[in-house]
Amino acid sequence: MIIGIPKEIKNNENRVALTPAGAQELVKRGHTVYIQETAGIGSGFPDHMYTEAGAKILPTISEVYQIAEMIMKVKEPIEAEYDLIREDQLLFTYFHFASYEPLTKAMLKSKSICLAYETVESIHGGLPLLVPMSEVAGRMATQKGANYLEKPLGGKGILMGGVPGTLPAKVMILGGGVVGTQAAWMAAGMKADVTILDVSLPRMRYLSDVMPANVKTRMSNEYNIREMIQTADLIIGAVLIPGAKAPHLITRDMLKDMQPGTVLVDVAVDQGGCIETCKPTTHEDPTFIIDDVLHYCVANMPGAVPYTSTIALTNATLPYALQLAEKGWKKAAQDNYELAKGLNVIHGEVVYKAVADAFDLNY
Ligand code: NAD
Repeated sequence: MIIGIPKEIKNNENRVALTPAGAQELVKRGHTVYIQETAGIGSGFPDHMYTEAGAKILPTISEVYQIAEMIMKVKEPIEAEYDLIREDQLLFTYFHFASYEPLTKAMLKSKSICLAYETVESIHGGLPLLVPMSEVAGRMATQKGANYLEKPLGGKGILMGGVPGTLPAKVMILGGGVVGTQAAWMAAGMKADVTILDVSLPRMRYLSDVMPANVKTRMSNEYNIREMIQTADLIIGAVLIPGAKAPHLITRDMLKDMQPGTVLVDVAVDQGGCIETCKPTTHEDPTFIIDDVLHYCVANMPGAVPYTSTIALTNATLPYALQLAEKGWKKAAQDNYELAKGLNVIHGEVVYKAVADAFDLNY
């Protein structure tokens, strides 16, 4: 199969859909990989690394779309790309269709086949192509939080692990899924005093088995949250209710009960946030302060670490890309339930119920 990797053109997107290592695997199996000039540069992969891996470089995005049978990307196509997409072309990328109707309409019009990373689903219900970005965001949440706890940046001026003779920072993590667990590992490694709050007892049993002694678990309810926010130094929001907006576990009125300089990192901001006062921010202007409480709510945290994010994402996508390249989308989806769940749009028809429901389209 001919695979095309365009350079991401969405603002501030430095990731790329394939590493040189991934290109080599595809080429080794007899496929042809075309990558747009400088597509990998933002992730630390200059063109020569791709040519050495057997890929071919094309100077423009339109040439990549023109030649490829399968386009692999990171972000959803933006308007400038809509007309480049060809009938029958397979697009394998994040789409998040339900959140943007013009994209859905444009892909229906293109008569392409859209296989969305975010809906590829394992038999047990996990979302294997969302996990790597949650892992990155979770680890980064602690890193950011630790930084913003410094006084000149607006925090209380407390060191995460303290030093001998002082108390460590109190870190409260709402939600013990992928993001929360990775955030907890990092905070625990920094010797903070960590508590994960979740509503799932089986999940908390698991966490209490695997986490070190400085990580405790506690039932997530309003009573416990109200009590803990009074002394927490860093609060990380990492709740997800699949298919729904995040619940506001920390409401506006609760801010007054927090100490000045408390840091809130709401990773769930992309689903509306689990802290009522959080609204999406950017890497250029990541924080704001309300009632002396610092808020960090960047909606695309992994974008700040494109080297790690690109490798983590492609580690997860490549096995699927190999199947698609080998068998074509139809046979690959027939053979693999996970890939079948990723199909959202086929030749002008929506084939994913939640997307059809979002815009009252036929399904
Ligand atoms: P996950 O499904 O692995 O974990 C969510 C956890 O929340 C589960 O353990 C669930 O039991 C728990 N939960 C549900 N209701 C709760 C409640 N009331 N109180 C406490 N816990 C509750 O999800 P995840 O992969 O960890 O993702 C978490 C959030 O982070 C999602 O909104 C995701 O979209 C977001 N995210 C954001 C970024 C970013 O850049 N900002 C990047 C990746 C993921």
